[in-house]
Amino acid sequence: MAEYTPMIKQYLTIKADYPDAFLFFRLGDFYEMFFEDAINASGELEITLTSRDGGSEDRIPMCGVPHHAARGYIEQLVERGYKVAICEQTEDPKQAKGVVRREVVQLITPGTMMEGKGLQDKENNFLAALTYFENKSFGIAFNDLTTGESLVTLLGNHIDEVISEIYLNGVKEVVVASTLDESVKKKLIERCNVTISIEDETTIPANFQKLMEHLEQDSLVVIFGRLLNYLQKTQKRSLDHLQPVQSYNVNQFMKIDLHSKRNLELTETIRSKGKKGSLLWLLDSTMTAMGGRLLKQWIDRPLINKNEINNRLDMVETLINQFFERQELRELLKEVYDLERLAGRVAFGNVNARDLIQLKKSLLQVPIIQKVILGIEHQYAASLSNKLDGCDSLMTLLEQAIEENPPLSIKDGGIIKDGFNETLDQYRDASRNGKTWIAALEKQERERTGIKTLKIGYNRVFGYFIEVTRANIHLLPEGLYERKQTLSNAERYITPELKEKESLILEAQEKIIELEYNIFADIRETVKKYISRLQDLAKIISELDVLQCFATVSEERHYSKPTFTNGDIFIKDGRHPVVEKVMNAQEYVPNDCVMNDTRNMLLITGPNMSGKSTYMRQLALTTILAQVGCFVPAAEAELPIFDQVFTRIGAADDLISGQSTFMVEMLEAKNAIVNATERSLVLFDEIGRGTSTYDGMALAQAIIEYIHDNIGAKTLFSTHYHELTILDQELMSLNNIHVSAIEDNGKVVFLHKIKEGAADKSYGIHVAELSELPSSLIARAREILERLEHNSKTMSAPEQKQTNNSVQANAQLSFFEVAQPKLIKEDTPGIPKKDKQILDAIKSLDLLDMTPLDAMNKLYEIQKRLKP
Ligand code: ADP
Repeated sequence: MAEYTPMIKQYLTIKADYPDAFLFFRLGDFYEMFFEDAINASGELEITLTSRDGGSEDRIPMCGVPHHAARGYIEQLVERGYKVAICEQTEDPKQAKGVVRREVVQLITPGTMMEGKGLQDKENNFLAALTYFENKSFGIAFNDLTTGESLVTLLGNHIDEVISEIYLNGVKEVVVASTLDESVKKKLIERCNVTISIEDETTIPANFQKLMEHLEQDSLVVIFGRLLNYLQKTQKRSLDHLQPVQSYNVNQFMKIDLHSKRNLELTETIRSKGKKGSLLWLLDSTMTAMGGRLLKQWIDRPLINKNEINNRLDMVETLINQFFERQELRELLKEVYDLERLAGRVAFGNVNARDLIQLKKSLLQVPIIQKVILGIEHQYAASLSNKLDGCDSLMTLLEQAIEENPPLSIKDGGIIKDGFNETLDQYRDASRNGKTWIAALEKQERERTGIKTLKIGYNRVFGYFIEVTRANIHLLPEGLYERKQTLSNAERYITPELKEKESLILEAQEKIIELEYNIFADIRETVKKYISRLQDLAKIISELDVLQCFATVSEERHYSKPTFTNGDIFIKDGRHPVVEKVMNAQEYVPNDCVMNDTRNMLLITGPNMSGKSTYMRQLALTTILAQVGCFVPAAEAELPIFDQVFTRIGAADDLISGQSTFMVEMLEAKNAIVNATERSLVLFDEIGRGTSTYDGMALAQAIIEYIHDNIGAKTLFSTHYHELTILDQELMSLNNIHVSAIEDNGKVVFLHKIKEGAADKSYGIHVAELSELPSSLIARAREILERLEHNSKTMSAPEQKQTNNSVQANAQLSFFEVAQPKLIKEDTPGIPKKDKQILDAIKSLDLLDMTPLDAMNKLYEIQKRLKP
């Protein structure tokens, strides 16, 4: 059997180490792919599949991309979740004996992309590494290779917590141990749509120990170790820009589970998954990319420490009052470049001269920023100002060395200023003198030949030449001019004199380019030494940016400074920040919210579309804004500091977990009920809607009672089960409120105003009418409603149409039963005595003390008693 050629053998050996990546195999000016990779890549990238004789009987499938255009193709593949291994020739082909040596120099993966359209300025690109400990806890580490930030934390043993952290950080790739449970990997792929990578080594290499110095627990070091080893193995280069690892504990922040964050549309909307329409979008008045990223991090993690919150709020207040300083600060920040990502590119050796000019311009702002914040009268500002380090010597170096408008390429010269390097100046003189000499030669040749249009030009292929139009050729003296190139209407010549000068000029030019590149590379090395100072600077700049952003938005939107209580809520004229912005501010109806020991739970009724869910969301967003350190959309706000926020809002289907709507509803309810404390905020919007009326209403009531009796969390509960409104007689701290609507000429008009007490009517048919259902249908609904209401008053059966198309009588009944509630209350009249006894018997069962068989027997007994 025929053998593969040595090159294909080399390819196969290297490919064996990268089975899950496309191997871009450098062959001259192309990256080639072979076999399966070629077939798959040609499909993904829409490039032609060809074949090549590789020594075997069959030709080998092959496709390739030119080296200079490879970046775009690599980005396309990586953005789709693939990995690309870049395999370069690592020796000069001219010196090679046999096949040129080749090695993989970098593995580019979704979590380690350094550039590309997929990277957003104001978003981090986090890679995550997951570790499962035998003591049953998960640990997770994050790193953004573009900025060098790293975070690490320990979570419980529930995969949902892991998924929540991974999803919230927008992670595209997770590194795990090869032994990690398959079911966990599967969940990560299905629910977070991530690429899974394997790394088993967790020991920290010696030169990275210092990043870990302040991590207290060994387990945190292990967690980060996996991530670091993966980075080293894939990037195969200096990772000088990695910042010290920060550990965090989810308990240090207000906890908002993943569903609630999505329901409340904190950083993206449910529908479009985009930023527009989210709280982040409303707030983002940051001037720098770094500030934009920090803002998102702050929104994702509201604080629970009162002093820290007040520190931010006080600074925001000062910035609001000092309008001129703030405006100036905004203008200055606008000129500050993304220093964190720049530091990353410096470490990777990817910066060009334009980046360095941007860096210089940014550093130039620092002393002015410092001056401005010194004028801001708050100790937070003073502490930030003290920490600002403008890296003066770096600034001076860049100022002296780099041209103001350098070209993009760092290989063609034109980067270094005159006067920076003596040798460079000498070459430049030689080159410039040569050019003056050429100008003089042109003049001299014109005079000698009498050809006015004669000119001396230059191009890359032919070098310098004397160009004479065809009509004038006869004027040239014989013998001296050697023909070089023929054009349609001119000839180009060279003379020995010109040839000699040409080589001098070109030699100087060549040396200039080489020297400029070397000087640039030296400067880049110097910038590397400043990486950690630049990162510290970036941190302060981004903090300043977010604080000015809060002040700007708070002022523009007339927010007010919240104060904190030990539990009571008092909000005067509160608004929903995003709805208010999207609609005309004048049209938004502000509402108060008062909650305290005797008003711990509010049951909200009112027609559909009247504003129940908006009212609930506005409370949640107000508390989150306050705990993030921003002013809030209200005339006055006194709030407790909540430890957690739970929501069950809207019937958004849940694509992440693939659960049915009703199941999601119950899971979210469970999550709140299991985890909420009396310091939590719980928002339940129409719980029970996802099932039949009686089931739904029973569950709703049970949930209300449970929270009331066992948790005591501040709770808003909206419902269309009017029957529930009588619960206020039973439950001490439950109060009814409703969103008012009036009937005007038979049409419903929403007032969006929250009032005390229960709603009198549900206006369902009115709302249906607004949706322009056929008028005959609406009329028929009214007719049925009237009869139902009448029937329910006389306790008779609900209306049924005489045809087979019967109305779902049972399901609709409860809507109109306000007069005769069927709630299960111990002293509710209407429950037969026998039933009551049975209920009591069930209540008194001690389930924990029963075997399943006991339970079956008991159930049998109960059933027997109930049977007529
Ligand atoms: P519900 O939960 O009662 O069905 P929503 O809270 O979804 O109603 O509100 C429906 C619409 O009413 C919102 O999209 C918004 O346009 C408008 N709305 C709600 N509250 C207000 C308000 N306070 N002022 C003005 N418009 C409001």
